[in-house]
Amino acid sequence: MERQLHRTPRAGGRRDDFDQKTAVNVAKRSAFQCAVCSAVTVGAGTASPNAVINIGVAAHIAAASPGGPRYNPLMTPKQRSHISNAIWLCQNHAKWVDDDVVEWPTAKLHEIKHNHERSMRLKIGIPARPSSSRPRPKRGGKPTVREYAFVDVRSLIPAYKAMLAPMLHDQKLGEESELGILMIDAPVVGSRNAGVLLPWTVFVKPIWLRWVVQGHGAGFGLQSEVPPDQIYGQIPVWPDEFFEFLGAIVESGKKFEWQRSPKGYLALQQSQSHA
Ligand SMILES: [Zn+2]
Repeated sequence: MERQLHRTPRAGGRRDDFDQKTAVNVAKRSAFQCAVCSAVTVGAGTASPNAVINIGVAAHIAAASPGGPRYNPLMTPKQRSHISNAIWLCQNHAKWVDDDVVEWPTAKLHEIKHNHERSMRLKIGIPARPSSSRPRPKRGGKPTVREYAFVDVRSLIPAYKAMLAPMLHDQKLGEESELGILMIDAPVVGSRNAGVLLPWTVFVKPIWLRWVVQGHGAGFGLQSEVPPDQIYGQIPVWPDEFFEFLGAIVESGKKFEWQRSPKGYLALQQSQSHA
């Protein structure tokens, strides 16, 4: 079996195993999640304050020794033990990919690894939202804040920054600027869907948001309207849904545009002509 963390050297045969640095790096590049099923593989153990539980393995895509799964005799030992031949998997998938090389050929594993690493990379720095915060009334109701965060413009991923560019320009926000972020369920305004509650991300002045979360804005209550003069702009999606949102725009052909709200800030909205 081609499992890095459970080495069982075959008698007489050489194995081109990954070194520790390679195994750790492929795990980090995978955000410590299985590249196939995204199961979290690393976490805190309870046996001691230092205990770490790891159910992940740096698996070989092409086997480390002759006779192993997907072994490629044309590869050099250096290539077999290189990180480009490693994929981070949970133990279930590490066993499965080695027990069924027809189901899991080399090219497929490379593609899975590439897509998982890309997907993890795009989530770096984006606040997570518990799925339990999903309930959304169909229509009516008041804006409700689900979560908040603070983020520097400089740390936004390029795709997100590109989407926000008109707002950043309009508000004269540079790389050094900070954004307060509110994830809100709020009624749509100004379209035939008016009144339907949608997830909005509202970008606000960080000083104001700090003042609110420190309790000084006691009257705000997270149910009230955000003061318009504290808003930089808003988009109709929450950060962790951003890429689904972009994909949906491309697939549906719907057009979204930044439009100035009557209250002065820019809001990304579906174009009226295509609604
Ligand atoms: Zn898995």
